[in-house]
Amino acid sequence: MDSGETRLFKGYRIQHNNVMGPYKGGMRYHEQVSLDELKALATQMTWKCALLGVPFGGGKGGIKFNPHDHSHDELRRITRRFTHALGSNIGPAHDIPAPDMGTNSQTMVWMMDTYINTGPTYEKNDQRAVVTGKTINSGGSEGREMATGQGVVHCIKEWAREARFDLEGATAIIQGFGNVGSNAALLLSKLGVSTIATGDHSGYLRNDEGFNAHKLQDYVRVNGSIDGYPRGEKISRAEFFETKADLFVPAALENQVGEEEAMKLDVRLIAEGANGPINPRGAAVLADRGIPVIPDILANSGGVTVSYYEWVQNRNSEHWDAEEVQRRLLHMMRRAYQRTMFYAAEKKVDPRIAAYALALDSLATSYKERGIFP
Ligand code: GLU
Repeated sequence: MDSGETRLFKGYRIQHNNVMGPYKGGMRYHEQVSLDELKALATQMTWKCALLGVPFGGGKGGIKFNPHDHSHDELRRITRRFTHALGSNIGPAHDIPAPDMGTNSQTMVWMMDTYINTGPTYEKNDQRAVVTGKTINSGGSEGREMATGQGVVHCIKEWAREARFDLEGATAIIQGFGNVGSNAALLLSKLGVSTIATGDHSGYLRNDEGFNAHKLQDYVRVNGSIDGYPRGEKISRAEFFETKADLFVPAALENQVGEEEAMKLDVRLIAEGANGPINPRGAAVLADRGIPVIPDILANSGGVTVSYYEWVQNRNSEHWDAEEVQRRLLHMMRRAYQRTMFYAAEKKVDPRIAAYALALDSLATSYKERGIFP
C-alpha cells in the first residue's frame, strides 16, 4: 500500500468452457466478488459468445475489494501482482480478460504490460491480445469503450422498429451510471430519449426534464458516483423503480430486480445492460405483467463483440476505423436479435429462453460434431 503496509487480496479467475474458442470475459473489482458469482458470470459469457457467434468460450475473474478505496498507484500494484499470479493461466489463445465493473482500459493496459513483460522479448507484440478493452494507444479498438451501451441501444432500436414505437420524445430510467449505463444514456439521448431517473451505489436521482448524459458522465468520471450531482432531485430506491418511463436499462449489479421491484416497474421495455439484473422471481412477475425483457446475453453482448474485433485487429496488426467497427457490430447484433426473437415467436417462449436455447444448441452441436476422445 502507499503507506508501506502489505495487504492480502483475494482474486479469482473462472474458466467455464472453451469449446468455441479461448475463455473470454471480464475482470471485476468489487467488494461483493465471490467464487459463486464469478462462476455464474463465466457461464453467462459462454452462452453470450455462443449466441452471438463470437468464437470464444466463457470466463470471468475478479478481486474482492472496493477499488474506490485505493489510489491510482495502489490499483496499479494490485493489478500487476494479480496478473503475475495468474501467469500462464491467461494468454491470447487461452484466456482473454477484459474490463468489467470496477475495471477499465487503464487496468487492461497494466495487465497487458505485466503479461508481455514476463514472456519472451520476441513475442511481446504477439501477446498484446492477452486482454481486450485496452486504450486505443496501447492496442485497443475504436468503439470498445462505448460498445456495451451501443449494443443495448441497438437492441432497443430493433424492438422499437418492430413494436412501431417512436423513440423520439420517449423516457428512460437507468440503474447504474458506469460505462454501460452512461453510454446507453448518451446514445439514447441522440435518439431523442431522455433519461429521467438514474442511480448507483451512492443513491438515486430524478430529473423530469431529463439529465444531460454528457455532463453526468463527466461528473461520475471525476467524482466516482452520481452523489452530489446538482441537477436532480434525490429519490429513494423504491421511488426509482416506481418512476413511470418507456424504457428501463438495469446497468448495475446482478439480482437487482426481485418480486418487489418487478411489481413497481411502470415501463414498456427492459433491456438488460447488466449481467443477471433480474432474478427468476422478478422475471416471473414481469412475464405475468407482460413487460418484455431483452435478456442480458443478447442486450449487453456489444462489449464482448467489440472485444473480439480488438483481438482480431491485434492478431493481424490492423487498426479498423470507428465506422468499420460500428458497421460490424450493428450487423452482428441485429442478426442475434432477429434470431432470438424469431425463435421466441416460433417456439412460443420468452426471449431469455430463446437466447439460452440458441446458445446451448450451438454448443451442443459443436460437442456432437467433435465427439468423445479418447
Ligand atoms: N465484461 C463484459 C461482459 O460481461 C465484457 C467481456 C469481454 O469483453 O470479454 O460481457
